[in-house]
Amino acid sequence: MSVKFSREVYGWDRFSKISLTVGIFLFVTRYAMILGIAIIIYSIWRSKSSRVRGRNNTKFVFENTKRGVHHNMDNLKKNIKLINIKKNMELINKKIKNDMELISNKIKKYKPMESLKQRRKYIITSCPKCQQKLRLPKGKGKIIATCSKCSSVFRLKT
Ligand SMILES: [Zn+2]
Repeated sequence: MSVKFSREVYGWDRFSKISLTVGIFLFVTRYAMILGIAIIIYSIWRSKSSRVRGRNNTKFVFENTKRGVHHNMDNLKKNIKLINIKKNMELINKKIKNDMELISNKIKKYKPMESLKQRRKYIITSCPKCQQKLRLPKGKGKIIATCSKCSSVFRLKT
């Protein structure tokens, strides 16, 4: 924010002086006396009113400063929002990274040949009572199995 102070703040500016000179010239030469007087009056009025304008300028500066502060506050709020978004993005990125690691670990752990071998050696069955998945040796004929979770005993053929 920049505030430009004009010369007019200090009363007699160049335009007022020139118009006064022209007014005096017109008045003295009697070329256009009334116009000359009008111009003289105008230039005096201008120099006086520009002081008032200067006062208004001070008010203007104050208003502008206030506006500037508000603008800065708005920017600050926007920045805080951006920071929050950034934080959220970081959290999301972290979550994605964690998920990716979990998935890659699962892929690493997933060994299809191993599970095939196990399937050949064992049978996977579930407890009739609690539905707990149980791994039992294969090819042992009729066996009595005990559930590892609920300890219920049941017979089955392997
Ligand atoms: Zn069970």
